[in-house]
Amino acid sequence: MGLPESLLATDQTEAHTARVSNVQFYNVHDGPGIRTVVFLKGCPLTCKWCSNPETISTQQELGLNRSLCTGCGACLDACPQKAISLIKKPCGRREASVDRGLCTDCGDCVASCIPKALTMYGDPMSVEQVFKEFQKDKMFFGPEGGATFSGGEALLHPDFVAEVFALCKADGIHTCLETTGSVSRRALEKVLPVTDLFLFDLKHMDSEIHRLWTGAPNTLIHDNARWLASQGVQILFRVPLIPGFNDCPDNVQAMAAFVGGLDSENIDGIELLPYHAMGTGKYQSLDQDYLLCDLKVPEEALVEALRKEISALGVPCSISR
Ligand code: SF4
Ligand code: SF4
Repeated sequence: MGLPESLLATDQTEAHTARVSNVQFYNVHDGPGIRTVVFLKGCPLTCKWCSNPETISTQQELGLNRSLCTGCGACLDACPQKAISLIKKPCGRREASVDRGLCTDCGDCVASCIPKALTMYGDPMSVEQVFKEFQKDKMFFGPEGGATFSGGEALLHPDFVAEVFALCKADGIHTCLETTGSVSRRALEKVLPVTDLFLFDLKHMDSEIHRLWTGAPNTLIHDNARWLASQGVQILFRVPLIPGFNDCPDNVQAMAAFVGGLDSENIDGIELLPYHAMGTGKYQSLDQDYLLCDLKVPEEALVEALRKEISALGVPCSISR
C-alpha cells in the first residue's frame, strides 16, 4: 500500500525549510537523556487519540488559547479578512472567536495579541535555524541526550531531517527520530546514515482495526519496520496504549511476537505510552472536535500487567512516565 499522492508530493519538497509546530526543550520522554524535540507539521495518519492535532496538516494553522484571551479586541483590526469577533460568555467575560470559514491562516493577527492567546502553528524554519535550536542545550544533553525530530511525521521532510541531523552528527549531538513508519522507503534510506535511534510507533497488529482508528492500514508500517531492523540500526518500538483500541491481550501478545521476531540485535524492545488527554486543549484552540473526550486514562495496574506480559514473552518492555 503506497502513500497518498498529496503526501508523496510533500515528501519531495525542498530540503531547506520545513514547517515547525513546536520546539520543546528539556524533554525526557522522546529518546534517552535530556533532549530538544522539534515537531514538524504533516502526518500521513489521523489517529483518533492524537495529542498533537496541530501537526496533522502540512499547512500552518492559527491557534487560539481561550484561557489566555483577555477580550481586549486588538486582533480584530489586525485581521484583513475580518475573521475575528468578540463574543460574550454567559459569565459576562468577553473572548475572541475565529470564523474558520473566513480565516486564511495568514498569521497577521498573532503579533497584535499581547497575552499570546493567538499562535501560529507551523512557521517555516530553515535547516540552520533548527540546527541552532538543537545546539542551544547541547551543554545539558550529557552522554545520553541529544536531538529528536517528531511530528506529525518528520519523515514527510526526509531531506530536511537528513540535513539537520548531518549537522548534529558533525557536532557530536546524538540523533533520534520518532516515526509512524507510514512513510516511503526513500525517506527511511535518506535519514538512515545520520540517525542514531529510531522511535518506531506500533499501534495495532490487525490492519483493518488499524485503518479504522488511524486512517491507514498497517502493512506499509510493518514492512518498513522489518526493513529498518534488517539494516541493523537501533530501534525502540513505541506503543501508545489506547483503552478499547489496542490494550487487549491478543494484540499485545501479537505485538511482542512481531518485535521479538525481527532479525536484529539492535532492537531495544517496546515502550508503552499510556493514553493521556493532554491534547484536548489543542483541539479547542483549533476549533476542532476531539472524538475521544470520554476516554479514561488506563489504570496503572493494567499497564503494568501488560508490561509484564510483553516482558514474559522475551521482549524488554518499559513504561513511559
Ligand atoms: S490568521 Fe489571518 S485570516 Fe486568520 S484570523 Fe488571523 S489575521 Fe485573520
Ligand atoms: S486573542 Fe489576543 S488580541 Fe484578540 S481579544 Fe484575545 S487577548 Fe486580545
